[in-house]
Amino acid sequence: MSEWISVLAVFWALWLIDGARLAPRRGFTVVGLGRAARRARAAFSRLSLPGFLPAAWRIQMADVPFAVSPAGLWNRPAGAAGRPAEFPAERRVWRWSEIREVGVARGWIFINGARFCPDTGHLAAPQLLALAALPAAAREARLRTLMAAWFRPAHLRRRVRVLHARTRVPAALNTAGLAAYLAITVYVGGDLASHLALEWTERLVYALFAGLAALAALHLAAVIAAGRSLRRLKPVAPQKRAANLLSAAVMPPQALRLRALAGEGFFPAQHPVAIAVAVCSPATRDQLAFQALADLRWPIGDGRDEPAPAAATEIAAWFGAETERHLSRLLAAAGVAVPALFAAPTPDAPASCRYCPRCRDQFVDGTERCPHGIALQPVRRL
Ligand SMILES: [Zn+2]
Repeated sequence: MSEWISVLAVFWALWLIDGARLAPRRGFTVVGLGRAARRARAAFSRLSLPGFLPAAWRIQMADVPFAVSPAGLWNRPAGAAGRPAEFPAERRVWRWSEIREVGVARGWIFINGARFCPDTGHLAAPQLLALAALPAAAREARLRTLMAAWFRPAHLRRRVRVLHARTRVPAALNTAGLAAYLAITVYVGGDLASHLALEWTERLVYALFAGLAALAALHLAAVIAAGRSLRRLKPVAPQKRAANLLSAAVMPPQALRLRALAGEGFFPAQHPVAIAVAVCSPATRDQLAFQALADLRWPIGDGRDEPAPAAATEIAAWFGAETERHLSRLLAAAGVAVPALFAAPTPDAPASCRYCPRCRDQFVDGTERCPHGIALQPVRRL
């Protein structure tokens, strides 16, 4: 029995790490079950974990990694929903007229040969080049259209429904497979054989082999069904679905989340708040909305002593106003009362009398600014 236990231990270890990814930067991972909108959980981390159940899908999404305007581009995020906010190692500002070439390498966008920002899919390299080539007036109109595409929760919800419908068969086969592997584990791990009469154990050995053959068939059917689903789910972002499906085909423990695999690259890059409005709980949605708006209203320094060039501040101002306009419209449509998100907190200790409007930390009298340099405001006295 013990060799069976080691085989099962390896199986479950492989199952556990399947789909786990460590990215070079923090990002959002949104995991939901079935087509249940507004119940997905969101995590902001470098480590992205898929759901445990075969019915789960996953959306990986980054904050917009730059500020853009009709004048140019700056590689500093504005309106970031993730905390802590991350900043680029090098400050880069480009006017459109200066942009000659845009390329992508190792997950980064390079402008004129210099590393600019992570390639998150919000604006692809060809789109940046096309924007640079446009006359100023046409560029502004095009930019507004491209930005509006980041704030379309109905589109994301529709994609979740499509993914759910087109992966119903592999997800159902995966659920049956997972239940069967669990049953075998309980049987072997619990040493149930020793509790059964001898004649029963003998019969069960045959049943076990028949069961393993059935599991192999189930595995094959699930992989084939997922392959058919992939053909009907046109990706909009770079992905390695075919290669991943092939490796899942030879590694059964990695073929139990085929719905999540089919969802790779299926969701267009949007603003994290749009995703939260589309599929997350009201609490998560309100938290991300607050963080994105607070990042616009009280931006913190990017850790540099020299001030940003005038061109950069100009870009950030246009981008911030445009982002805030979209967020306000999005949140109003979702029934979120934005002023309530920013209401002053009541004191959390008798000595607290001020708070930071960005990080919501409270301070005692005599403190003027929080460690990030944000001017404090009075708490709400009861
Ligand atoms: Zn603060």
